[in-house]
Amino acid sequence: MKRRAGWAAGENGSDRWMLRFDRFVPEVEARREALCTLGNGYWATRGAAPEAVADAVHYPGTYFAGVYNRVRAQLGEFTLENEYLVNAPNWLCLRYRIDDGDWLTPEGPGLLGYSQELDLRRGILTRVLRLSDGQGGVIRVTSRRIVSQAAPHIALLTTRFEAEGWSGTLTVQSGIDGRTGNANVLSDRLLVDGQPLTTHLVPRHRFEVDPETILLEMETSQTGVHVAMAARTRVRIDGLPVQPQRRLETDATGWIAHEFSMSVSPGHPVDVEKALAVCTSRDRAIASTNFAVVRWLDRLDGAAELQRQHEGAWRTLWDAFAVTIETNEKQALAVNLNTFHVLQVVAGIDPDLDAGTTARGLHGEGYQGHVFWDELFVYPMINLRRPDLSLARLGYRYRRLGEARFAAREAGFEGAMFPWQSGIDGRDATPHRLYNPRSGLWIPDNSRRQRHVGIAIVYSVWQYFQATGDEEYLIAEGAEIILEVARFFASITTHDEEADRYDIEGVMGPDEFHDGYPDTPGIGLRNNAYTNVMTAWLLRRAIETVTLLSQRYCRPLWDRLRLRAGELERWERISRRLRVPFHADGIMSQFEGYEQLPEFDWAAYRERYGSLKRLDLILNAEGDNTNNYRVSKQADVLMLLYLFSAEELRALLEDLGYELTPEAVVRTVEFYGARSTHGSTLSNVVHSWVEARRDRARSWEFLEQALDSDLTDDPEATTGEGIHLGAMAGSLDLIVRGYTGLEIRHDRLWLHPALPPEIAAVSFAIIYREHPIRLELDSARLTLTMDASGAGPIAVVVDGQEALLNPGERRVFELSPSAS
Ligand code: BGC
Repeated sequence: MKRRAGWAAGENGSDRWMLRFDRFVPEVEARREALCTLGNGYWATRGAAPEAVADAVHYPGTYFAGVYNRVRAQLGEFTLENEYLVNAPNWLCLRYRIDDGDWLTPEGPGLLGYSQELDLRRGILTRVLRLSDGQGGVIRVTSRRIVSQAAPHIALLTTRFEAEGWSGTLTVQSGIDGRTGNANVLSDRLLVDGQPLTTHLVPRHRFEVDPETILLEMETSQTGVHVAMAARTRVRIDGLPVQPQRRLETDATGWIAHEFSMSVSPGHPVDVEKALAVCTSRDRAIASTNFAVVRWLDRLDGAAELQRQHEGAWRTLWDAFAVTIETNEKQALAVNLNTFHVLQVVAGIDPDLDAGTTARGLHGEGYQGHVFWDELFVYPMINLRRPDLSLARLGYRYRRLGEARFAAREAGFEGAMFPWQSGIDGRDATPHRLYNPRSGLWIPDNSRRQRHVGIAIVYSVWQYFQATGDEEYLIAEGAEIILEVARFFASITTHDEEADRYDIEGVMGPDEFHDGYPDTPGIGLRNNAYTNVMTAWLLRRAIETVTLLSQRYCRPLWDRLRLRAGELERWERISRRLRVPFHADGIMSQFEGYEQLPEFDWAAYRERYGSLKRLDLILNAEGDNTNNYRVSKQADVLMLLYLFSAEELRALLEDLGYELTPEAVVRTVEFYGARSTHGSTLSNVVHSWVEARRDRARSWEFLEQALDSDLTDDPEATTGEGIHLGAMAGSLDLIVRGYTGLEIRHDRLWLHPALPPEIAAVSFAIIYREHPIRLELDSARLTLTMDASGAGPIAVVVDGQEALLNPGERRVFELSPSAS
């Protein structure tokens, strides 16, 4: 039987805690590198082969959260200035050869056996290679690595070499390579007027710290961030330390390595332990990056102890975040894999780190490592387990409020305008041009018009507050974000006196297929329903925040904000009179004028192109434009039903003077569902959510796709450029909140379960207002268990039935068959 590459190849022997690959497949190596990334929120390294350098197959990438750099290139008359999450030096470098042979690599002709496994429970990546040097020498190489979850600046790569049936010399080279660039994504590798967009690091220092230790320090060319790495390589034969003679190899452009040779023979394994300490000049409490890494390495525990602490830290994380699900093994693996990767980006974060939630994790260079609105999909899963982590993430936005205020002022508005894409300092990092591989042309990218990112930030602030009741946060930071974003949105509205309606023009909704009208592409849309309804919600929350805080001492906050007389009244008025477009048949219109667009010939294009996910690029290459049709890349109007229940949405619209009947809600879902290409992985999350109570089979289909966003062997998937963090977190949230109907409202925990038949049972733990609660759900019953503590009881409402749950109590709720 011919096995397919990708997931199918990984399936053999995989289980829900172990992602396994049993052969080396060059075509999918980039995807596997992303899927086998190890990290801890501070930094991460792709699961690349230590033997490899960046080439057509391999892409070793290491990224530090928050470390960005800008470069410029000329594209004809345009100057592109792009900001990148910098690909830091490659610390994995570990090459070996037998006698005088060539360096051995997995893709060479000598590969006799290969296996790779990622242990999700323990955060360990293991590879076993059997390689022949073509001269009769066969060597078994077992390498294991961790990026410590317990000691954020430390990583460990241990490699065991075992000679099979020969004796001779083994030469090993252990190095750090700073000659890296950002070349993971095709468009960044391209030459733009003769210059690639890839080079970010310039050398600073490289030296031998002691006979076992080398150090490399590089600096980012524009942001001036120092990145230091020190590697200590120790050797044991038969478990006993040996000191082979080392040669120092260096290169002024940013390379340093120790090379050493040993005699090997069967039955006498050689263990090479490479311990690494890393530091950047953005870290706190350091004297200098070089001094720090040397000091940390000096006092490092032994490998066994490091491993023990690392596994302990993962155990703690899994205790808080594991979702146990009875479903097919592949989906159960996807649940754990997604949890694992989201945690590798958001957990362990030092509140002082100052890094945002990147759309593609720390796993690759897709979207240049930028921070988008995707965090909206990530917070729910953290808020319910480790709200302290949410708080650290929200800090990234608060610290960039000044930049957002400046951006609003520059654009002629008030308040704070957060950028669509954000990097190191919160300036707009959205590229102006997008490369279309179908035509080879760079086309305008107007996605910066997605002002709704600011509302997504407020939504996240509000959700955090709802989950925790943390008023101190609101006073210190949250309220300022809410009110400044409210101010911005109020300032971009214009009043149509005749109709007494407020309009918002020149924006894009989440659907990136529409950046303007057929005759005016790129100038934005009039009255995008999502933006306008969310603005009404935002202005309400702003008023609610002021009312809430009027009971508290907030003088410094009011001094900073300087609310004007009449400002709140204006917000109130706007929140009741924003215009929301509807089609003649009563369904919500994505934006004013959408109804006039012609239908798209789906059948003909499906026939011609197969997948239409990136219909924008297909049509652009044909000289056409998605603006011209009723098509969408992802949920836009339907986002409203993701963020609000149908009842809440109807109430919001009613306050605006519109009626959306339950029947029109259904038609709205059907209308946009039929016209979406789901070109963003986020779309599957939203559609699964929206269908959860309407059409469970459809909902499950979307969930499967969302869960599999990166585990798929779809050739169009861009996982090689990083995981899709929003879809990963969103798919978990669907199980945790979506199918249990979990909501926090009016100081109660509401549950309204509706498990799809494909999930027999699910259980997980949450923290609700500092009460740890365990939920176990199957089709017949929901069991809630509250840990014993001195806290008071909490009010829960299960399928409309109210009950009090006391600490230490376990309560079983029988579910009516129709509910589940
Ligand atoms: C989607 C955006 C998303 C971005 C980053 C785009 O393809 O359209 O909604 O924020 O990817 O994930």
